[in-house]
Amino acid sequence: MKILEYEAKKVLGESGITIPEGVLIRTPDELTAHLPSLPDNVVLKAQVDVGGRGKAGGVLMADKTNAVETAKDLFSRMIKNTPVKEVLVEERLDIIHEYYLSIAIDRSTRQVLILFADAGGVEIEKVAKEDPAAIRRASLPLIMHDVPAFMVRDLLGNAPKELGPVINRLYHVFVKKDALLAEINPLVTTPRGVIAADAKLIIDDNSLKRQGITVNRDLSDREREAERFGFSYVELEGTIGVIGNGAGLTMSTLDLIEYYGGRAANFLDVGGGAEQERVMNAVRLVSSVPSVKAIVVNLLGGITRCDEVAKGIISAGISQPVIVRLAGTNEEEGRKLLSDKGYQMPDTMEQVVKVAVEMTR
Ligand code: GDP
Ligand code: MN
Repeated sequence: MKILEYEAKKVLGESGITIPEGVLIRTPDELTAHLPSLPDNVVLKAQVDVGGRGKAGGVLMADKTNAVETAKDLFSRMIKNTPVKEVLVEERLDIIHEYYLSIAIDRSTRQVLILFADAGGVEIEKVAKEDPAAIRRASLPLIMHDVPAFMVRDLLGNAPKELGPVINRLYHVFVKKDALLAEINPLVTTPRGVIAADAKLIIDDNSLKRQGITVNRDLSDREREAERFGFSYVELEGTIGVIGNGAGLTMSTLDLIEYYGGRAANFLDVGGGAEQERVMNAVRLVSSVPSVKAIVVNLLGGITRCDEVAKGIISAGISQPVIVRLAGTNEEEGRKLLSDKGYQMPDTMEQVVKVAVEMTR
């Protein structure tokens, strides 16, 4: 999950990295009360989760006399289709130079990858493309407590030594917060020392609980609902809804759909021992995806009882056709319930998928 700039800065601040003085506001009026304690020159930053925010008009300079007006302007903007609900108002830094620092997981080497560049700021993507050698790299295994001094030296090159401790502090944040990415761009030198002018932090979704984060804001309403029900759920782009039990069976259903030329709308594993209500919730959830034209239910009755599954499907009462493959415990009872209601139940998994693909063509 991505953390917004002001939250990320708070984390950096706690780790000993200097961050700008600032306040978070939710309306332009809130700024009025803060004005006396703010310096003459400020920068207003939309707290939106989009890349290239500055270039898209999400970072505005102001002084005390026009700060409230500027805040009104910023709150009225859409930054890359995202409305501005919170604005971070900070002291405007007297920047000597902008550097780039990021720490991420490199999946190919299974190590932590630290990147540093002398040319930080809003053009870093261009630098990466046109002059990749300008971005220095260092890798280390996650078991290291600190970034070794020789690595810090290599990363910094001729950049001021005072930037060194920030690399280590950001590394500590990265480890402690179970981050997938920790980035400071720009990390700036000022007459007052080194300051993190921007901050980005992505927490591994698998660690949210451990990190005390109860709501994953990056999830859609539907994905959040799926999480609440305890389903493994991933939204895809196709038209055929998929419900299975067990990741393997559900994945092979997706594969078959692709094989026969269809496109799956989702992956949903209801898990073992699915009762009527659980199946009903799954069917309704998948049915609520606007692109879904038909749903394939592929459930194997082990602990799961097929008659419970059938009742769940029927009680969901959805408008799209549901094509069902049921096998295992109480299969006869389940099939009878469904056939009485006119559901299609081809004999094999292949046939079930073929019917769904035909329907959605
Ligand atoms: P981003 O576009 O979302 O990465 O937003 P940043 O917070 O990185 O700001 C974009 C650019 O605005 C920075 O690279 C700086 O050049 C400039 N900027 C941001 N804060 C300040 C500041 O306090 N003082 C000055 N002079 N420039 C700033
Ligand atoms: Mn930035």
